[in-house]
Amino acid sequence: MTRVTVWTEFRQERTDDAVRAVYPNGIGAAIAAGLQDASFDVRTVQLDDADQGLSDETLADTDVLTWWGHVAHGDVTEATVDRVQRRVLDGMGLIVLHSGHHSKIFRRLLGTTANLAWREAGERERVWVIDRAHPIAAGLGDSFVLEHEEMYGEPFDVPAPDDLVFVSWFQGGEVFRSGCAYHRGRGRIFYFRPGHETHPTYFDPNVRRAIANAVRWAAEPRGAALLTGPGPASAREPIATG
Ligand code: ZN
Repeated sequence: MTRVTVWTEFRQERTDDAVRAVYPNGIGAAIAAGLQDASFDVRTVQLDDADQGLSDETLADTDVLTWWGHVAHGDVTEATVDRVQRRVLDGMGLIVLHSGHHSKIFRRLLGTTANLAWREAGERERVWVIDRAHPIAAGLGDSFVLEHEEMYGEPFDVPAPDDLVFVSWFQGGEVFRSGCAYHRGRGRIFYFRPGHETHPTYFDPNVRRAIANAVRWAAEPRGAALLTGPGPASAREPIATG
């Protein structure tokens, strides 16, 4: 059974009534509930846990890590980012959600700022399925609607995705690449845009399906582990000199 670790900051849920009203048990609990319904083996961890919730032992026991952060990106230590990056390159899947675009780990793995345009107006979002043959699009039809969401707009400063699965349209006129898949080392990474903390997005059945599909897609490492590491190499053929 695929082992999923749901990581969140769990900060705003403790301090902000508007967030607590939507996610009384935390955003992580809502994400985890959707994944449990999809029959994954799910655990939730938080920034203020020991080792920031992401010890080597936890990561070794994780096939896919989901990441939701917003106000505390700066509190995630470089050591934590190092541990997560190592596991992704070694084949762990990583699903980066919503404001996780500005997390240290996402920027580290992509190498860009991941800056974007945004507006908090609770406007309508239509998520278009661009790559209908992609496993992450399974069962989602040609589009689905979230009645109230924060807007994220282009330009989104990320490398061109290896697979672009979703593009969102917003009532205010913007568009955004809201489902971007990447390969880094043996790991699969998926960025999925929806999920502002004051909207009940993680209870939406289409959002839950997209995240479950992404976990399923990201669970399998790409290719076999290298039998020999990089290093000094002896020649496989005679080398003519002179
Ligand atoms: Zn947001």
